[in-house]
Amino acid sequence: MPNVKCDHCANEFEINYQTRTIERDIQLAYFICPNCKQEYHSFYTNAKIRARQDKINELWTKARTTPNQIKVKQIIRRIDGLVEQNKQEMNRLREQYEASN
Ligand SMILES: [Zn+2]
Repeated sequence: MPNVKCDHCANEFEINYQTRTIERDIQLAYFICPNCKQEYHSFYTNAKIRARQDKINELWTKARTTPNQIKVKQIIRRIDGLVEQNKQEMNRLREQYEASN
């Protein structure tokens, strides 16, 4: 996990992600500065995004154990597609939930 510097108190700390449910299947990943307790919102996920994350992990495992380089490239293309879909959906969720705060 990367280290970050708190915008409020300049304390440097290691990110320790926590999640909480916002509504229905929407979860927020966030972390808190251990010094001043400032909360930082990292990203929002829904069930679809989390299912894609599971699929991505599964595909990485498959890519690591596949000897055929052409197949590996195909798997990685699929992973890239899923990552891109997740990125777009996470951006949409962030706009939706951060705007209403
Ligand atoms: Zn702080």
